[in-house]
Amino acid sequence: MKCPYCGFTEDKVIDSRESKDADSIRRRRECVRCHKRFTTYERLDEIPYMVVKKDGRRENFDRQKVLTGLLHSCQKRKVSVSQMQAIVDAVEAFVVDSSERERSTASIGELIMSQLKEIDTVAYIRFASVYRDFKDVNEFKMELEELLRGKDPRHRRSSGAPTTQPASQASKTTL
Ligand SMILES: [Zn+2]
Repeated sequence: MKCPYCGFTEDKVIDSRESKDADSIRRRRECVRCHKRFTTYERLDEIPYMVVKKDGRRENFDRQKVLTGLLHSCQKRKVSVSQMQAIVDAVEAFVVDSSERERSTASIGELIMSQLKEIDTVAYIRFASVYRDFKDVNEFKMELEELLRGKDPRHRRSSGAPTTQPASQASKTTL
């Protein structure tokens, strides 16, 4: 720390203590050249919450990003902004609740989908088509078709379901 009196860059810390609300540290320093004393405050860096992508890369959790994704999925649907914000709040609480201070994008995506599903099926499908890691197009089409028939796809059995639907059948469905 540069001495404010003589500009020397070496000092010794005489005393250091946390501020009352524990978000900064106050250090009393003495310049080793001119022996004058001065005080510095160090703000503790806010430790970010992270999201872990599928390939292992991490980035800061960003509420706005979640909201942007929801706005996209809910475009022209009857989902209010306050409903979307409630989902963003739930996601944030989920991330903050993590002891490792991070969550995978996959688990966040699942949370958003479970919430959207209760509100608007079309918004859910739009979101799922982007975020869920469907193994192939048929898997997604099966989920879509079962949803449109009003069945919960979580209860479906993977065997015996037709996988060779003509492509035109799905494209007729207007989202
Ligand atoms: Zn000095």
